[in-house]
Amino acid sequence: MNDAQVLVAGAGPTGLVLALWLAKLGVRVRVVDKAAEAGTTSRAIVVQARILEQYDQIGIAQEIVAQGIPMAAANMWIAGRKAARAAFGEMGKGISPFPFALVYPQDAHEKFLVAKLEALGVKVERRTELAGFEQDGGGVRARLRRADGTEEVVEAAYLAGCDGAHSIVRETIKAGFPGGTYDHMFYVADVTAAGPVMNREVNIAFDTADFLLVFPLIEPGHARLVGTVKDSAVGQGRTIAWEGVSKDVVEGMGLEVTKVHWFSTYHVHHRVANAFRAGRAFLLGDAAHVHSPVGGQGMNTGIGDAINLAWKLAWVLEGGADAKVLDTYECERRAFAERLVATTDRAFTFVMRNGPLARFVRLRIAPHVVRAVASSRMGRRLMFRTISQTNVSYRGCALSAGVAGKVHGGDRLPWVQLDASDGLRDNFEPLRSLAWQVHVYGERTEELARYCEAKKFGLHVFRWREAMERAGLARNAVYLVRPDGYVASAGMTHPAADPVSADLVARG
Ligand SMILES: Cc1cc2nc3c(=O)[nH]c(=O)nc-3n(C[C@H](O)[C@H](O)[C@H](O)COP(=O)(O)OP(=O)(O)OC[C@H]3O[C@@H](n4cnc5c(N)ncnc54)[C@H](O)[C@@H]3O)c2cc1C
Repeated sequence: MNDAQVLVAGAGPTGLVLALWLAKLGVRVRVVDKAAEAGTTSRAIVVQARILEQYDQIGIAQEIVAQGIPMAAANMWIAGRKAARAAFGEMGKGISPFPFALVYPQDAHEKFLVAKLEALGVKVERRTELAGFEQDGGGVRARLRRADGTEEVVEAAYLAGCDGAHSIVRETIKAGFPGGTYDHMFYVADVTAAGPVMNREVNIAFDTADFLLVFPLIEPGHARLVGTVKDSAVGQGRTIAWEGVSKDVVEGMGLEVTKVHWFSTYHVHHRVANAFRAGRAFLLGDAAHVHSPVGGQGMNTGIGDAINLAWKLAWVLEGGADAKVLDTYECERRAFAERLVATTDRAFTFVMRNGPLARFVRLRIAPHVVRAVASSRMGRRLMFRTISQTNVSYRGCALSAGVAGKVHGGDRLPWVQLDASDGLRDNFEPLRSLAWQVHVYGERTEELARYCEAKKFGLHVFRWREAMERAGLARNAVYLVRPDGYVASAGMTHPAADPVSADLVARG
């Protein structure tokens, strides 16, 4: 008998969300972490809309939203002057029930997830390090080492490597981690401060040689600063503290820092593991990909990995699908990680480049572009779709088939708001079952009802309305939706292909 069906190594946001989804799906899970306690520093501070949508499926989104700050606007500062303001408002209105990016620091976020996990009876085993593992066709045998030196061998069906950028799971499966490290050194600081940029909005300063980002934190008067450390300070090999950081841009923005609560420096890497799976061991989160914090995507991508893998593991473990379905994890998530690393690399290189042309574009052209994009509805929607991860799609992977309207197999199910006459808040409400289901927008046929009954798919028929067409859905079409809210298959009369019973994944 296995000690756990899934052993999760690492209780950062990725491991915690994986464990939470697995526990919700009835999987026996153990979570170990070598650290004595959860992270106590704010690190990733933006939660994107797609993650909130998927948190809503397990009933935790509203509580998180109540504790965070929806990002209302960003101001761009150049040479001590406010050069542009982009008011986001509800920039994703009509696209998502969470039409904003939410400021919610990682330490509060992790604490929240730990509490939710404990409520489901799963306690993170702290000071417990995954020291090594081996696997065969029957399972994984993992060696755990406690702080007092004692060891335990755990047997599990699967091992999830959520053990961060220096992952031992990645090392053991001998996956490469190609990419590079940027030359610049950055600092992050959580501070108490005053001044015009302490306005609950995001403020970004570009100067000829410096860069500073000011994010509002939850407590009034608190902010997160992200800035560059001058080459000269780095070159001297000294330990860099807040006192040693150039204050030109800070002072240019009129920011008066009265207390520094946390200060840290770091180098930014851009790397994607060349395999996300070897047999029964998987890589997720920072263990699988690391990239620049531009756009606030890092932690969100790890959480996205966790949700993508959780329901597939649960499905295989309950005997619903062949283990081949787990191959789709790498196809779906590695492709996205590669695109993301390439995009954030381009954005980051642009922000940091210091040649005369790059400076001219950044200082003279960019403010106009920001103003133009933010002042048009189309621009705001484009910006939202780009950063919110609502555009993530798994087209072309083995579980995705067909197209109906503008929605392809592999796309996120578009969101449609409903009203009291429908008896549902929106078409995402049925996703809370975390089960395969069929959606029809319009009218269903008797044949489809029989098909769903035979397959034991929940059938949800929504009264047709204009908003559905605007969202890209086709009237009376049939969408087979996965437990994570992505469309597996779309067709005009029945699912174009039925991945659930296709040879690839079904047991029979
Ligand atoms: C200073 C700083 C600032 C950052 N700012 C941002 C930001 O603004 N935006 C953004 O998106 N991201 C930011 N990040 C990155 C973000 O914090 C990570 O992307 C995120 O934490 C990844 O989550 P994870 O769960 O995959 O890995 P981690 O959070 O690294 O968690 C890994 C866990 O595994 C544990 N572990 C490691 N090895 C073992 C082992 N052998 N056995 C057991 N446990 C093990 C560790 O103790 C740790 O708890 C920042 C990171 C840092 C350090």
